[in-house]
Amino acid sequence: MDALWHDGWYRFARHFPSPNFGERPSNTDIDLVVIHSISLPPGQYGGGHIQQLFTNQLDWDTHPYFESIRDQKVSAHFLIERTGALWQFVSCHDRAWHAGASSYCGHDKVLRTNCNDFSIGIELEGVPGETFTDAQYESLASLNAALSHAYKALDFVGHEDIAPGRKDDPGSGFDWPRLKREIG
Ligand SMILES: [Zn+2]
Repeated sequence: MDALWHDGWYRFARHFPSPNFGERPSNTDIDLVVIHSISLPPGQYGGGHIQQLFTNQLDWDTHPYFESIRDQKVSAHFLIERTGALWQFVSCHDRAWHAGASSYCGHDKVLRTNCNDFSIGIELEGVPGETFTDAQYESLASLNAALSHAYKALDFVGHEDIAPGRKDDPGSGFDWPRLKREIG
């Protein structure tokens, strides 16, 4: 496990530490992976704005859309760009700020709220309703294999599943059967 992880940081991601995180509640079992999609501005790829947003370095004045998210303090543990490039912003030991108001009912049928407490957030660069790249799925598959090595009972959901009506990512273009095949 040490070959893949150091203090909750994945060895094969580019580390870009964000100040937007907190402690998880004590004795939290991490058992959920939340898949998201994001692009900044929406529909534009590769500009580095997501990394800037997650580290509070986005210049809000450089695009009209950014005004609508001004001063938001958010993060995710991971981001996978269209190229497959993998970034990590928050240690998996800590609580990233990706899901917001949310609830999840697992195999034990117990409803839990505040999914950030017990989940790992992965953002895929993309637009809800559109498809993702092969490079992203390949990167996601390696990451999920490493996560499954560290956390034994992970379930995988979309942000739209834990915040229905409020969120629509990753959307219908995300290939859940492919994810399930690749994580076995
Ligand atoms: Zn989301």
